[in-house]
Amino acid sequence: MATKRNLYGLDRGQLEALFQELGLQAFRGRQIMKWAYHQGTIDFAAMTDLPLKTRLWLQEHCSWELPHVHDRYLSKDGTVKWLIRIGQGDLVETVLIPDKGRNTLCVSSQVGCVLDCSFCSTGKQGFNGNLNAAEIVGQMAIANAYLAGKSESVTNVVLMGMGEPLLNFDAVLAATNIMMDDHAFGLSKRRVTISTAGVVPGIEKLQQHTDVSLAISLHAPTDELRSTLVPINKKYPIATLLDACRDYVEYLGPARKLVIEYTLMRGVNDQLHHAKALVKVLQKLRCKINLIPFNPFPGSGYERPEDSDIYAFQTVLMRAGFVTMIRTTRGDDIDAACGQLVGMVDDRTKRQQRYRDRLDQEIPAMQVH
Ligand code: SAH
Repeated sequence: MATKRNLYGLDRGQLEALFQELGLQAFRGRQIMKWAYHQGTIDFAAMTDLPLKTRLWLQEHCSWELPHVHDRYLSKDGTVKWLIRIGQGDLVETVLIPDKGRNTLCVSSQVGCVLDCSFCSTGKQGFNGNLNAAEIVGQMAIANAYLAGKSESVTNVVLMGMGEPLLNFDAVLAATNIMMDDHAFGLSKRRVTISTAGVVPGIEKLQQHTDVSLAISLHAPTDELRSTLVPINKKYPIATLLDACRDYVEYLGPARKLVIEYTLMRGVNDQLHHAKALVKVLQKLRCKINLIPFNPFPGSGYERPEDSDIYAFQTVLMRAGFVTMIRTTRGDDIDAACGQLVGMVDDRTKRQQRYRDRLDQEIPAMQVH
């Protein structure tokens, strides 16, 4: 028998299109979403407002498949980390961070990462492919099932787990559409954030398709320094990146801001002159700043700055008028903090290298279907 079509991961437009292809009315797609996401019913037989014929057809041809949970870890501070199986042997990580009434979910979009930022352990694992939309949105369904036991649900999603979301554009777009759709998870667009190391064509393309929130991993105020930390900066330098950011934030409108992420590494990018240079670089961008004290991992070669240096850095930015938060480290007893997510990535450098070699041609040519 042919494999069934997994309806998790199809956003409303895709479900409606599928139904129209089948000669059914488009609104049946919305009905099904409500059953699955609002009622938690994935048994087509129980979807009583659908014609019997449709229910039978769906039973035969479609399914709702969540990715498989390989393991789950609970931190002393309430953080939860899931290892999720992707494909044959790969594992990616999803982290839930409960904090003062918020439940923020950090979601992975790729198995490993090709960008190889010098201070991120995910990049060191190599790369073994993209998650599909069901595997991305499935991470939210898994976290919600856990939270349902406490009568809670995920309130915020950040695409800050493993991978570079804008290099898996179509799947990330469909997954975030589902997260923000009132017929599905219904999160506000302010509460779903894609984080990118600076894939400029992806940023430019976002505004043709979505108004999701955006975070930029900047980490340095000069091209010279940034290129050593975030190699994709050689292809899309800071000025080009910030031009794309300004365009996107203009498109989002005056009530919205971008988030600038800046991981602080001792003696590398944490000096006062870096802070002052950052103020200049960000002057014409509507943004707030998240400072992330470096989270160590074996062999990284970097260290976290002293607290006093972190506060001094923050003070420079705040005095210049930027809302500046210091991200507290959560879940480090279960290796769930930013940059500690490694999962288990099968292939290593070969596939990563092949992918990098192709990046040059592929990034400008990215297409959304
Ligand atoms: N590829 C995307 C999303 C994944 S990384 C991006 O680059 O934005 C999510 C955030 O964690 C990024 O800002 C990244 O730079 C930061 N990060 C990575 N490794 C880290 C580490 N060891 N300590 C602190 N932050 C880290």
